[in-house]
Amino acid sequence: MRLILLGPPGAGKGTQAQFLTEKFDIPQLSTGDMLRAAIAAETELGLKVKDMIARGDLVPDEIVVGIISDRIDESDCANGFILDGFPRTTGQAEALDDLLDEKGISLDAVVEIRADADILVGRILQRAKENGGARADDNEEVLRNRLDVYQEMTAPLVEYYSAKGLLKSVDGMAGIEEVTASIMSALNAD
Ligand code: AMP
Repeated sequence: MRLILLGPPGAGKGTQAQFLTEKFDIPQLSTGDMLRAAIAAETELGLKVKDMIARGDLVPDEIVVGIISDRIDESDCANGFILDGFPRTTGQAEALDDLLDEKGISLDAVVEIRADADILVGRILQRAKENGGARADDNEEVLRNRLDVYQEMTAPLVEYYSAKGLLKSVDGMAGIEEVTASIMSALNAD
């Protein structure tokens, strides 16, 4: 099963990805997690993307496309994977199509978790408080920017994947278990 989870920051992509990982025994590939790991390890890549992430801006397409292309080649992705936070631009989606073509594999579905931006701001700020403000990109101004960037750069992917017949949309404002059930039903896996 090869899936993309699409949705604004705070919609619950990460939480749902964890359920799907267990259900289908496939890894969650989060570009956000990979970039934060690079920052923590102070690699050359980490230093390059640190300020962009702190501002809530996107990092350049070629960086995340390269990371994902390499990661998909690893043996634990042989049965599939869940892309969480990638692709985020039409350029990334087109690059993903090309690289999957080259690898001779294809996507099974793109799950859109729909959510209301204003409610998300409250949710994410709450998460930041609970984690002791662990994420540098969780303050309100940066968060508003991340939501704006989502609307402008990422929301067009809903149409992109809908046109390919891959899109499954679920209501992300329901409770966590309800959202999981909707995703399973959308994937005909319940
Ligand atoms: P996330 O954990 O998915 O919310 O990602 C955190 C931050 O990492 C984002 O606000 C971006 O700065 C960067 N990032 C993660 N994934 C991507 C991507 N696919 N394209 C560009 N930037 C990304």
